[in-house]
Amino acid sequence: MPNTLPSPYPFPPPAHAPEPGQRMLDACFLGPYGENDTLLEKLVVEFLRDHVHWRRNFHPEDPPAIPTSAAQHPEYLALEARMRRELHQLSAALKQSVPFHSPRYIGHMASDLLLPGLAAQILALPYNPNNVSEDAAPITVQLEVLAGLQLARMFGYPSDPARPDCAFGHLTSGGTLANYQALRMALALKAFPVALRAAGVADIGVPGDDWQAFNLAPDAAIDLLVRWQDWLSTLGEGERRRWRARFQEQRLETLGMFEFFSRHPGLKVPQVLAPVTAHYSWSKGLKMLGLGRAQLRLVATRGMRMDAAALREALEQCERERQPVLMVVAVLGSTEYGTIDPVDAIVQARADVAARGLGFGIHVDAAWGGYLATLFRNPDGSLRGLDEVHAGYRDFPQPEVHAAFAALAETDSVTVDPHKLGYLPYGTGAFVCRDHRATALVSEQADYVFKQGDRDDYMTRYRQLGQFIPEGSKAGAAAAAVYVTHRVLPLDHANFGLMPRQTVLAAEAFQERAQRFADDMRGVVAATVPFPPDSNLVCLALNPHGNRDLAIANAFVRRLYDELRCDPQRPLQVKQFFSSITTLQRAMVGEAELHCILDALGIDPTTMHEDNDRLVILRHTLMNPHLIDHENGISYIDRYFEYLGTLLRGRTSP
Ligand SMILES: *Cc1c(COP(=O)(O)O)cnc(C)c1O
Repeated sequence: MPNTLPSPYPFPPPAHAPEPGQRMLDACFLGPYGENDTLLEKLVVEFLRDHVHWRRNFHPEDPPAIPTSAAQHPEYLALEARMRRELHQLSAALKQSVPFHSPRYIGHMASDLLLPGLAAQILALPYNPNNVSEDAAPITVQLEVLAGLQLARMFGYPSDPARPDCAFGHLTSGGTLANYQALRMALALKAFPVALRAAGVADIGVPGDDWQAFNLAPDAAIDLLVRWQDWLSTLGEGERRRWRARFQEQRLETLGMFEFFSRHPGLKVPQVLAPVTAHYSWSKGLKMLGLGRAQLRLVATRGMRMDAAALREALEQCERERQPVLMVVAVLGSTEYGTIDPVDAIVQARADVAARGLGFGIHVDAAWGGYLATLFRNPDGSLRGLDEVHAGYRDFPQPEVHAAFAALAETDSVTVDPHKLGYLPYGTGAFVCRDHRATALVSEQADYVFKQGDRDDYMTRYRQLGQFIPEGSKAGAAAAAVYVTHRVLPLDHANFGLMPRQTVLAAEAFQERAQRFADDMRGVVAATVPFPPDSNLVCLALNPHGNRDLAIANAFVRRLYDELRCDPQRPLQVKQFFSSITTLQRAMVGEAELHCILDALGIDPTTMHEDNDRLVILRHTLMNPHLIDHENGISYIDRYFEYLGTLLRGRTSP
């Protein structure tokens, strides 16, 4: 077991000169050792006092309702004692929590929390704002709308509310719900022109038949929506109400899926095309919306990125079979592998099939990788070139990865999770759509005429947030955390980008170290990084030396993982490191690549068959900013591999 005390005690001198921004990073987190305890404590106490003063100064003439002598009463003391007892038990039990803050944790998508966000959330909690509307959250609902604009800017969407086509974003409980919102909005936009036709709205350029109406691209559907609203505004009050009611009656949102498609027998329920690597929230979402799981069509990947050729084939087949497509989902940072789909190629494929009459939306599921976009942005919001971004990395970004981020501006909506690579507390996902006018179609209020391109109007409209979001009541404190974090660390490479930079550097160091590990372990296990990482997740495939059977290799990795996962039965401190596992399926890597991987491991490809069609591998999420501890000259990546080596030698020796 490695000596846990740094040697020489107490601390060795810094091994490296800090790189620019490193000292800024020092103030960002509570730290693995709780290094910034005084800073956090100072902030929490300061703003808790501040909150109390606010209460006292509301109506200082009101006397204290709780008597000053209350704290001496036996009942008071008994309740306090009970409270303390329960809190102590909770606090004790929470010591079994997963040590996300530690650089020894490289399992799932969690790490330390950013201090500005944590402090803002703690600060805002006792005010308890409810972001369902401004009546319950005069301040934080505004911050949520502004946070949506901050995120929109990071993706290259228009973020100036004075522009009529400005983007709009809001927070959700997580990426899952943001994906539902994407589905809901895409469906509303798709079905809207069909409803206009059915309502008999004539002279505003409504498409000539149902198929065309159902195949307007989101942009064209929004244009039509604007023409419809303009036309309504030319009518008298009564006439307007009648037309709106006629339209309302034909909407999919009114009729439901069954009745809507019964009335339009030429149309099929639209499909969602997503890569095989897509998160399972897509399956849940299709069930939830009543589209049906069968409408989720999984597209093969190559090297864990969506295969653009396979997508084209699928789209062409849809066009031939007159199968409408609701949206194509591009994954920006797959949950299991961190890989980046070719957003640019997907945009191009859409342009090509649009010419043949198939129209649909493109949604980017960037729940994981969204904040990597900061690496590609200058402080003025402009895109950084490939060479600019590449400077300072060994491989990152692959040209395909740069092209994918550069094409984000041409997509329709994005999911991003501030509670993942945004390093914020749970309960913060986000949905962003490129053109806010689409929200008129998901609004609960029928009265959705709004002035175009008026900044004040934009803010006023979205202060009634509950009208537009899938949730109702929700934490304003969470919105405050996101907004303040983005203010302290603007979403560009020189500020927020400091964090993703560390993660990518760690991934490159990990990959290099894995190679050395593979060499050192020859004769004990065969080890390989099965595909080059696009970002900050790195996998490792293992097979005990001499074994050729896939099932045995998988069982071996699963047993190894027993040492690397959380085990509530054992004290936390006996754990050396935490990682996670996942599997590689044939449809994800491609046949040729799969053979290469099995070959590198010495596994006989014929042992992979229908009943056992996947390879179990270790998965490492390298998001902790302190994986390489420059201060003490420690690499937790090295230590992890040393530990793995010890475990494996112990296991495979006779
Ligand atoms: C994590 C993740 C989700 C789901 O997000 P939650 O916040 O867990 O609901 C969706 N898509 C991708 C790509 C993810 O990584």
